[in-house]
Amino acid sequence: MIDYEAIVIGAGNGGLAAAAALARGGARVLVLERHNIPGGCATSFCRGRFEFEVSLHQLSGLGRPEFPGPLRGLLQNLGVLSKLEFVEMENLFRFIVPDKVDLTLPANRAGIIRVLLERFPDEKGGIERFFDLVYRFFQEVISAFYLRDPEVTPEKYPLYFQYAFRDSQSVIDEYFRDPYLKLTVAGYWGYMGLPPRLLAFSDLAALLFAYIEFKPWHLKGGSQALSNAMAAAVLDAGGEIRFSCGAERIVTRDGAVQAVVTDRGEEITTRYVVSNASAVATFAGLLDDGEKRKEALKEVRGAVVGTSFLTLYTGLRCPPGDVSITETTNFICTSTDMDRDFALCRTLDVSEPPLIISCYDVSDPDFSPEGTCQAAIVTMKYAEPWLRVPPEEYAAEKYRSAETILRRIEPHFPGFTANIEEMEVATPITHMRYLGHPGGSPYGFEQHVKDSTLFRNPKPPVKGLYGTGAWYGMPGYQPTLTSGAAAARAILREMSRKENAR
Ligand SMILES: Cc1cc2nc3c(=O)[nH]c(=O)nc-3n(C[C@H](O)[C@H](O)[C@H](O)COP(=O)(O)OP(=O)(O)OC[C@H]3O[C@@H](n4cnc5c(N)ncnc54)[C@H](O)[C@@H]3O)c2cc1C
Repeated sequence: MIDYEAIVIGAGNGGLAAAAALARGGARVLVLERHNIPGGCATSFCRGRFEFEVSLHQLSGLGRPEFPGPLRGLLQNLGVLSKLEFVEMENLFRFIVPDKVDLTLPANRAGIIRVLLERFPDEKGGIERFFDLVYRFFQEVISAFYLRDPEVTPEKYPLYFQYAFRDSQSVIDEYFRDPYLKLTVAGYWGYMGLPPRLLAFSDLAALLFAYIEFKPWHLKGGSQALSNAMAAAVLDAGGEIRFSCGAERIVTRDGAVQAVVTDRGEEITTRYVVSNASAVATFAGLLDDGEKRKEALKEVRGAVVGTSFLTLYTGLRCPPGDVSITETTNFICTSTDMDRDFALCRTLDVSEPPLIISCYDVSDPDFSPEGTCQAAIVTMKYAEPWLRVPPEEYAAEKYRSAETILRRIEPHFPGFTANIEEMEVATPITHMRYLGHPGGSPYGFEQHVKDSTLFRNPKPPVKGLYGTGAWYGMPGYQPTLTSGAAAARAILREMSRKENAR
């Protein structure tokens, strides 16, 4: 019988980071991945002469070499930093509300304040004080939470205690009056899949701080380059990966991991399993122990499956400038009511909800074939309305949505539709199929201000079982990669404790 020290289920960001760190730490590791390529969301696909980026819009937490962010060190430790090439984005985003707002926020604090003051001069005091709060609050979060100060008191960390559990909307309302200013400052809410009323201020502050301090980055070759580099790091360190080979069961005995059974019926023994499959699939589907399953599911009881996306992947037969695309990241909103916009995520309606348009070729002119560019147009959608569409109407509904979205962006990027050479449309059902996650959610459970992973035990109640990725913590590249490395560290520590005890 084959035996590995650790088996990683799933080759998304979390799974690959865990596997690379385990293999480099000396563990005999096997990765099982259902799909035929590595990456999960961090992947690409080809149509015609275009290789479309599936998910990565803006990489956070990297920082410049002379001012590194936490992700730079992490990628270095995984042995992939020198294999990757990054391009810094000059601006956070262009923010458009037709006939009301059209501004571009630079990726630096002074520049953001300058641009906001030009458009909202009456709100000078609030704008300056808000960004001061974001910085001072997040610096307290870093010391108290990330650097694990053993003495966390309200006297030492007043802002941490005052704001950590506030919702973003109430803080924004405290600082600003103009609804368009509130909308612009909260522009990144789509990256967390929750409107400011439900989004913890600490999450909004983390997004703003991370992108302003460490800048948004594009990855040359797209996210598939990162996934390929991590898969290579696993192999180079002696690990193994089986593609098109899913895990079907995690075998336990006396509350501890014993083996994994693959979808080909092969049983492979191991002491440790890191699951990058969703928490729902892991606990309700893979885990064989009924009692432990109940215990694990109790921990996530009440958690809500997060939003997925409807995405138009478009390849244009012209460079971005020909259709007036000047920024890599563009947000288009129609309303200042973010709660209404969030409610629209539970419908098929795409005529009004916010759109994110990412054209990677603005930052990296070599990204698409010469003389062309690609743009991903994304809007948040839950799976439920799509699951109610009869199968025979699914394709027509998809293309109806695409036409509506293209009509909406045409006034801002004239000539866009006429220049489309290739287009593919992905719905939440597409993400369900490719990732195997409930609701096709790349974000895992919703991170509500009062119901986030902060309130749950991240460690499944089975000895040797660890979770990694968006379903066990925060979504996004930086957090999921970090969670994989953390799971590997915990396992390597335990292995070395056992070794020393022998
Ligand atoms: C359209 C879109 C845009 C996004 N934009 C950004 C962005 O700009 N910035 C950012 O930081 N984040 C962004 N994200 C979110 C980010 O991509 C995800 O949060 C992150 O990649 C999830 O990583 P993960 O580790 O949770 O694994 P996932 O990507 O969810 O991968 C899980 C893997 O497990 C495999 N698997 C599942 N079950 C099994 C099984 N039983 N056996 C074997 N394998 C299994 C799946 O096939 C998959 O490969 C975006 C996501 C999408 C979809």
